[in-house]
Amino acid sequence: MVQKVEKIWLDGKFVPWDQANVHVLTHTLHYGLAVFEGIRCYLCNDGKSAVFRLREHIDRLFDSAQIGDLKIPFSKKEVSEACKETLRVNKLKEGYIRPIVFIGEGVMGVYPGDNPIRLAIATWSWGAYLGEGALEKGIRVKVSSYTRHHVNVMMTKAKISGNYVNSVLAKREAMKMGYDEALMLDTEGYVSEASGENIFMVKNGAMKTTPLTSILPGITRDSVIQIAKGKKIPLVEDRFTRDEIYTAHEAFFTGTAAEITPIREIDDRTIGQGKTGPVTKELQAAFFEIVRGKNPEFKEWLDYL
Ligand code: PMP
Repeated sequence: MVQKVEKIWLDGKFVPWDQANVHVLTHTLHYGLAVFEGIRCYLCNDGKSAVFRLREHIDRLFDSAQIGDLKIPFSKKEVSEACKETLRVNKLKEGYIRPIVFIGEGVMGVYPGDNPIRLAIATWSWGAYLGEGALEKGIRVKVSSYTRHHVNVMMTKAKISGNYVNSVLAKREAMKMGYDEALMLDTEGYVSEASGENIFMVKNGAMKTTPLTSILPGITRDSVIQIAKGKKIPLVEDRFTRDEIYTAHEAFFTGTAAEITPIREIDDRTIGQGKTGPVTKELQAAFFEIVRGKNPEFKEWLDYL
């Protein structure tokens, strides 16, 4: 259960958590067109709190809105400030921020007409997304029976609510079968992304990740690429198949919620030694130092509250 806090920002005003409600005829609820973000704020060493790569998340929110043809009735600056203010009013030193832009009530046809475009920002505490011990021990993954979206069917570069029906189906299927997460293939059969994460593999010390063609351009993915470049770890963005990843020495997921989660098994095949590999460990350590403000080289990525 999500841990309730005091207030939610709704259309420019703070309202009590329990009163942040919408009408059942909210257009988005029926047809799935909303765009949202998932952002994390970390408590740093010096006791201050910093939102990780807020600018990039707000840019992606506005890009998603552009793709979904939704006009956000606030500026980027206003939305960024509101994200930080929502953490402050809820006295959260560390937590997750969820802005969502959705189509309100009015007409009920698929054509949304002049229905209002609304924006809510909620915050809550969120620990390890893929479960206790996931970040240390790694998780078990199943290639999904559900194919990830084709670029001409759903807009894969946008974080659109409706895209997540595919994610929910895949995630539920994997969990029911006793796995922790679903890995989806694209319409041509190549490895795509997970229900809420991008994927990396490591073989002989070199990294590979899915190209951005038909996946969500993950901000954690980009952070890992930049960290790896700084460490001179070879990396390519190229398509790969499920049998290629079966023989990887290491594999891991990246995501704001999942952070850098090692994968210890895919389709019942042990990956590498079945535990967090050395490259994954090194990247994880670097990532957590950066988000907690311990690496001044990456201070541009932190937005202090
Ligand atoms: N792919 C999907 C489908 C996602 O939902 C997410 C989570 N936002 C990601 C990848 C990772 O993106 P990010 O690192 O920006 O959170």
